[in-house]
This record gives sequence, C-alpha cells and structure tokens, in this order.
Amino acid sequence: MSFQSLGLSTELLRAVSAQNYDVPTPIQRQTIPVILEGRDVLAVAQTGTGKTAGFTLPLLQRLCAGKPAAGVRPVRALILTPTRELAAQVEQCVTDFGKYLPIRSTAIYGGVSIRPQIAQIRRGVDVVVATPGRLLDHASQRTIDLSRVEVLVLDEADRMLDMGFIRDIKKIMAMLPERRQNLLFSATFNRETTELANRLLQSPARVEVSGSQQAADNVSQRIYPVDKARKRELLSFLIGSENWRQVLVFTRTKHAANRLASQLDKDGLSSSAIHGNKSQGARSRALQEFKNGQVRVLVATDIAARGLDIDQLPHVVNFEMPQVAEDYVHRVGRTGRAGKKGEAVSLVSPEEKPLLAGVERLLKRTILRTLVPGFETGAAGPASPARQPPAAKTAQDQGEKSQRTRHAATPRSQKPTNRASRRKRRKGTSSPSVNGSPRRAAPCRETTRYTPSV
Ligand code: AMP
Repeated sequence: MSFQSLGLSTELLRAVSAQNYDVPTPIQRQTIPVILEGRDVLAVAQTGTGKTAGFTLPLLQRLCAGKPAAGVRPVRALILTPTRELAAQVEQCVTDFGKYLPIRSTAIYGGVSIRPQIAQIRRGVDVVVATPGRLLDHASQRTIDLSRVEVLVLDEADRMLDMGFIRDIKKIMAMLPERRQNLLFSATFNRETTELANRLLQSPARVEVSGSQQAADNVSQRIYPVDKARKRELLSFLIGSENWRQVLVFTRTKHAANRLASQLDKDGLSSSAIHGNKSQGARSRALQEFKNGQVRVLVATDIAARGLDIDQLPHVVNFEMPQVAEDYVHRVGRTGRAGKKGEAVSLVSPEEKPLLAGVERLLKRTILRTLVPGFETGAAGPASPARQPPAAKTAQDQGEKSQRTRHAATPRSQKPTNRASRRKRRKGTSSPSVNGSPRRAAPCRETTRYTPSV
C-alpha cells in the first residue's frame, strides 16, 4: 500500500516524500483513512510505530479542507503531549508535513519564557502542540482561546495519566467546544486510560498495531545478570568492548542519572544526564549533543526520555529496571524505530528479579540471559570504588527520593550526629540540642541498613 492510496492531498504527498517515507507504516495505514472520515480514534500504538505522522497527516488535510472563519486565525487543532521534548518533536512533524500548506503551528511548553509563545499565538496559529501545564498557564492569562478547536489529539495518553495530568486534561477539555474530533493515542491501556477514552471518545474507530504491549520485533533484547554494585563497571565494559557509539541509558531517579553520567565521564565515555530537574535549555542541549554524536551516552529518567525520537538510535540500556513493567516497553521503544534494528540491554541485579519477572509476564516471553565472565552475581570482582561495602553504596544508590524518605522516617533527635553524640547515646543520655533545637542530621549513609540480595 502506498501513501497515494490513502487519499492524501498532493501537498501532503510531496511533504511525505521529502521525509523519505516510501510506504505507510501499519498504524498509518489504519489511522489515516478513519481520521480523514472525521471519526474519533482510539489507537493502541507503541512508540516508534510512526503514530505521529499517523495523526498529523490526516489532521492537516482536514484543516485545509475546512473553512476557517474570516478574521483572527483561531486555534483549530490542539495536540497534548506529556513532555516538552515530545511537544517539540510533534510540532516539528507538523511543520515538516505542513510545509506546502497554509498552516501555522507552534509548540507551547514550560521551562522557557512564555512571552514569545504569547506573541506567536497572537499572530495566529492553526495547530497548537502543548504540554498541559503551560497550556493552562496561557488559559488562565487568557492568552489563548480554545473555543474554536475542531480536533483534539491526546498523544501518549498513558504517560500523561502516569504523570498526574488527569485534572489538567479535564480542565482543558472543558474549554473546548462540544463538537470536535478526538484522537487518543496510547501505548498501553489500563483502567485510567480506558476511563479517559470513554469520557472523551464518541463511537471511536479502534486501531491497534499488533503486540502493542510488546517491544518491537526488530529490537534484540538481552539481560545481563550483575550485582548492583558492579553495574557501572559492566556498563563501561560493554560500551567500550562492543564499541557502542550512541547509547541511551535509563535510571530510575534523577540523582542516579546525574551520578552515573559523571562516573561514565570519568571512565572516558562522554556522557550527559537528562531529567526533570534540568532546565529546558540544558535538556535540549544534551539531546542535541547526543543526536549529533558529541556525547556518546545519554543517561535519562523515564519521564525525560518519554517520546524522544532519536533517529536510528542503536542501543538502549536499562541500568535499573523500571518499577512499572510497561515502562520497559516505552524505554525499549526508543530504539528500533520505523523498522530499523536496535538492541536493548538490561543490567539486572538479584534484587531486581521480581521486576524482571513482571516485564517477562507482560511480554509473555523470557528474555535471553548473558553472563559476562568476571561479572557473575555474587562473584568477587576486582577491587574498585564500586565494590565498597554495600551499606554505603546502597544508601547512595537509592537516589534523592528515598534519601528524603529515610530522613523523614527517622526523628531528627534519634539520628546519629557526631562521634560525641553517638557516644552519649550509647551511654543512654538523651540527644543533645543546641539552643533547644536538635542538631543537624548526619549524612544519610550512617542511617542505612544493607538489604541483602534476594
Ligand atoms: P513515531 O512513532 O511517530 O515517533 O515515529 C518514529 C520514527 O519513524 C520517526 O523517526 C519517523 O520519522 C519515522 N517514520 C514514521 N513513519 C514512517 C514511514 N512511513 N516511513 C519511514 N519512516 C517513518
């Protein structure tokens, strides 16, 4: 099947061939005709399937076919995405496909100044791609009018709900006209996503590319069992010995991402971290440097990496297994996009076996295990900072969140402070205080217990 046979206009076909797309992907074959008919769509599509073009192409065609009111250019299509990066990418896609059409678009998201966005909206835009929070900022400042929106797209709806955007989405929906076309794209479905779909969609066409809970077939997956304390060494070893030039590595916390990126840098592997605590400028810069090869390893948290489209990304590494099994599919979906080959590697410590079991249950398959000699679990390895006694390492490895939890769980007065106070406590004296207030808590590693391997 060709793009021509899908009923797209000459202008869109020219733009498609300028992107070097020869044939439509399965999701595009299914979504384009039904969206062109004006139907609501519920699409179950994993990342990397070409879903962005799947909704952008027919959306643009419908906007061009309809007659906008004369005068000020109203916002006629609204695309909501969970992350800034995805908003920027989707808007780029709208620009690329709309290049031969009289369509204007803009991306609005937080972390950057709101003023240029206001100016852009004032000049008139047909398509707005937005993250929910910044869109609501505009709405509360009355710098955007959504009362003429004809098409609403929720992209990566599952992730928006995971990120707690449901209330924002409901507020935004209340600002839209009742009569409109709704398109909902989600890689995974659970009770919340289904509830949202029921609320949003009117007799939708259901579109599903096979195995939406599966990682793409063209991605080879592999598990490397390894002790937690030796993961960084193994990762450096794999990147170096296999000569991986572009690797996206996932950690669970921002703190772990920062720490790993700086350790890898010290190992001579140029690395950057990308996560929610970084400014938008730093995130965009890190991504750009990674894309153009200046940085070899990009260490990311799930949320920051969501929706990243890195052309021909060959390697994804789960440095830590995700807490939620569906996130494994999202992570692995960063590679092997649009049918290209990819490799996804997971470094799994004995403690993470239950998480791995959850992933394998979801995938309904067992992932190949590979043991690297010298990195067997429980084996004595070479002395290195990574093989220090587990208590200290474990404390650091937990990341910011759990450090905060530990402090909160231990009353300040009971926390070890300095040698003198510990000695006093051993003798049974009460915790010392200065001017009636308890002393500062000691570093968290002193309060941590080592959790034995499973
Ligand atoms: P998406 O799932 O929309 O993020 O798309 C994943 C990647 O596939 C992007 O890099 C697209 O440019 C690319 N892509 C989408 N559709 C096609 C197609 N029909 N032919 C070739 N590449 C495509």
